[in-house]
Amino acid sequence: MSLRWKLFLSYLLVVGLALLVLAVATAFVAPVTFADHLDMMGMRQNRGQNGSPGGPGMMMGAAIEDINAELNASFRQSLAGALLLAGAAAGLAAVGVNWLLSRRIVRPLAALSTASQHIAAGHYDERLPDASNDELGELTRSFNRMAAALAETEAMRQQLLADVSHELKTPLAAIQGYMEGLQDGIVPPETETYQRVQHEAARLQRLVHDLQELSRAEAAQLDLHPVSQDGSALAVAAADWLRPQFADQDITLAVVLPPEPLTILADFDRTRQVLLNLLGNALQYTPAGGHVRLSLARDDDGTAARFTVQDDGIGLAGDDLTRVFQRFYRVDKSRARVVGGSGIGLTIARHIVEAQGGRIWAASDGPGQGSTFAFTLPLA
Ligand code: ADP
Repeated sequence: MSLRWKLFLSYLLVVGLALLVLAVATAFVAPVTFADHLDMMGMRQNRGQNGSPGGPGMMMGAAIEDINAELNASFRQSLAGALLLAGAAAGLAAVGVNWLLSRRIVRPLAALSTASQHIAAGHYDERLPDASNDELGELTRSFNRMAAALAETEAMRQQLLADVSHELKTPLAAIQGYMEGLQDGIVPPETETYQRVQHEAARLQRLVHDLQELSRAEAAQLDLHPVSQDGSALAVAAADWLRPQFADQDITLAVVLPPEPLTILADFDRTRQVLLNLLGNALQYTPAGGHVRLSLARDDDGTAARFTVQDDGIGLAGDDLTRVFQRFYRVDKSRARVVGGSGIGLTIARHIVEAQGGRIWAASDGPGQGSTFAFTLPLA
């Protein structure tokens, strides 16, 4: 049965019940009250005639009895008529109210149902007009919010597919080019050629690895095992790992640690991965002769430890400070591609830090002014 009919029947039920209660009440209570009232009037009249029972008074009493009965019957008749009229009026009112409420309730619900079917069919731009301020309005607004979230997810999915295919295309085209060149004899079969092919294959491998990491991070499936440990040991481990590469590229790496141990709650491997990513980027985007400083300190509010990687490299423009944490975002795509970056590292770093209850951010005075990347982790 449709909601419209259910509502209508519920009104009719209420009207019917009200009429029944009214009919029962008047059938039992009203005649008694009415008769009492008439009796009182008759007694008063009797006393007015001769002050004592019997004689002409008795005759008057019988006449009054008849009038009583007649009045009672006509009272019941008019009551039944009034109840019938009231019932008809209430029935009509039920039809009117049902029509009005159906418009207010059933129509928006039907619109909601149609819109969800459209969304299920892939039309994510479907939205409903924000009509009222009641629960139905709230339902409509929730529906629109859900539709917007779905549209955003779909857009991100499409963007991800486009980005991934674009990223795969470049190294694959390079490998294919070298192979064709080798076959046609245009490219000499020498070590350098094979190294280039290997370089492109390694890029593909790195990209696939990063994508796996990204999908795990975005699905909140990073295998994190936070334990209490000294933050300084972590910073030293990451710095020591990359020290040879800093030396190779003639970039000075300084590590500044707090005088007292800072015990943080963190997953050692994943946090080291974040530090390696930030230090690796600093190495990547700082010219030879530059300086990089890794420091650890208690955060300003005293509840967290703050790791900071500061370089005097190419720097970042204001708009890029937040965008660099979006997946596949690279400020200078061609340059990043040469150095092998896919723009996923900082996205994964953000997920790792946030999953451990910290936050990560970038700061820079502008292009050419160096950059600072920092993140916090809760103290144990
Ligand atoms: P990638 O693998 O390309 O380095 P990331 O996610 O680690 O990806 O970084 C995203 C982009 O942020 C980089 O392509 C680069 O443009 C910019 N970036 C990251 N670190 C630095 C830095 N220290 N200095 C200047 N730009 C940076």
